[in-house]
Amino acid sequence: MMMMQPSVPKLLAIDDSELIHRLLRLRLQNERIEMHSATGSPEGLRMAKELKPDVILLDVDMPHMDGFEVISRLKADPETQDIAVIFVSAANDPGNRVRGLDLGAVDFISKPFDIVELKARLRSALRVQHLIAILAQKAQIDGLSGLWNRTYFDQRLTAELSEALRYGRPLTLVLADIDHFKETNDRYGHLFGDVVIERFANILSSGRVTDIACRYGGEEFAIILPNTTIAEALDVTDRYRNQLESATWPEQPSATITASFGISDLSSCDQPPMVKSLCASADQALYSAKQAGRNCVRAAARTPVAR
Ligand code: GH3
Ligand code: MG
Ligand code: MG
Repeated sequence: MMMMQPSVPKLLAIDDSELIHRLLRLRLQNERIEMHSATGSPEGLRMAKELKPDVILLDVDMPHMDGFEVISRLKADPETQDIAVIFVSAANDPGNRVRGLDLGAVDFISKPFDIVELKARLRSALRVQHLIAILAQKAQIDGLSGLWNRTYFDQRLTAELSEALRYGRPLTLVLADIDHFKETNDRYGHLFGDVVIERFANILSSGRVTDIACRYGGEEFAIILPNTTIAEALDVTDRYRNQLESATWPEQPSATITASFGISDLSSCDQPPMVKSLCASADQALYSAKQAGRNCVRAAARTPVAR
């Protein structure tokens, strides 16, 4: 599972005073930060959308559109609403501070600012931004397996499906279910069952970096394979099946664990909504694999619809 790498943070300063921009560049030139400047509100809003900076230093007093109006627009736009905004104001007016914070600013700093204080406030805003990004990613990851969770799977499959349809690329979906897992738990204990889930998850995420392995439910897993034909998917899936079957289990040397797999692609789903149809076909194929005696891979039948 790739975790968030902290890249060089981007700072956008929106201020009508050229002097402030020069001062900031000078004072922050040795910091690990990428500086951008906008000298007016409309330009600032446009750059915020394009650059997606981590932090915006926003002047309160600007002609035409003041900082309060700018932050209201930033917060109203889903593309810019998560950017941390620090207000910069010449007037040390508590009313302004309250208004700015209520509109969603994370902090406030008075002009003329002390550079040490400014850096400390920037650091603090960036720290919070980074934690929010980590939390947002954690909410999409399953704790035991480290794979993407079901919520993420649902969103991602929808997105990958529309990409595949738009560009006319193949897309395959694999569903996997550990065989007789209830028995494994009963015989060797639930803790060993958890070990099996972790190791199977490792096997399932060892494919292409573009493959998306998810925990679908208890002992069920799903892999979205973008740009992959059903023949290629059969190949990798059978490799995963074989890896699990031949795995040795130091915790329980007498254990043998297997899983069954069902595969579907765009040709096996015809009724809208296609996401549902794709999952239903893979599930049907998985059922066939279980019926055929487990520890095997089955592909969904192609629908007779001409494409
Ligand atoms: P089949 O071959 O038909 O799939 O049989 P099965 O026993 O695997 O299927 P069933 O759905 O009857 O049982 C699934 C079991 O998986 C029951 C449940 O306790 C276990 N399970 C689900 N999630 C976890 C988990 O996170 N950890 C452990 N240890 N067991 C789990
Ligand atoms: Mg099951
Ligand atoms: Mg099972």
